[in-house]
Amino acid sequence: MNGKFGLVPLLLLVLVLSSCRYLPQPTPLWLVDGFDFPVGDRNGKGWAVTGYQFLDWSTASQSWHPGEDWNIPGAGNADQGEPVYAVANGEVVFSGWNTALGNVILIKHNLTEHDSVWSQYAHLDQRRVATGDIVHRREIIGTVGRGPNNRFSAHLHFEIRQEDMPANAWPRTNGQAWTKEKVRDFWLHPTRFIRENRPQ
Ligand SMILES: [Zn+2]
Repeated sequence: MNGKFGLVPLLLLVLVLSSCRYLPQPTPLWLVDGFDFPVGDRNGKGWAVTGYQFLDWSTASQSWHPGEDWNIPGAGNADQGEPVYAVANGEVVFSGWNTALGNVILIKHNLTEHDSVWSQYAHLDQRRVATGDIVHRREIIGTVGRGPNNRFSAHLHFEIRQEDMPANAWPRTNGQAWTKEKVRDFWLHPTRFIRENRPQ
């Protein structure tokens, strides 16, 4: 007798717990809900990669350029100070300075519980987030700058990485450039990746 009546509350509990799964849940910030462009509107409108493209040979660094250089075409240095946006939800794993890149922000983005990519923003004029901050897609994280000692004309150096590397990672070892093939094992084509992973 007792066993029979104990079954009813148990069945109700199972029903309640299983129905929770079907309630619509907002995407938590630790997970991405798609990627937007890092400058301009969410589609990158008004901006273009007019500097080095992904895997162009960089004479300045004697290596294959592992990212894209974004500008407002024809603006010269007038795009200095323009906002730079987080391309997706994520965690700021580095916000600081290094002598080669100037102000840098590196963000980890979880595609799933087990799969991540990293976006990196360099030569920034200002950094507006700190290491450890959780950011959402389209949050302003800094502004476009000219790199250390105004070394460059104003542009955003932007990378998407598929491996966990330090902020100052560059595809070169002891002054020797990595092959393009090896660079592709660590870095992704930024524009292609964003186009293939837009928010639904
Ligand atoms: Zn660059």
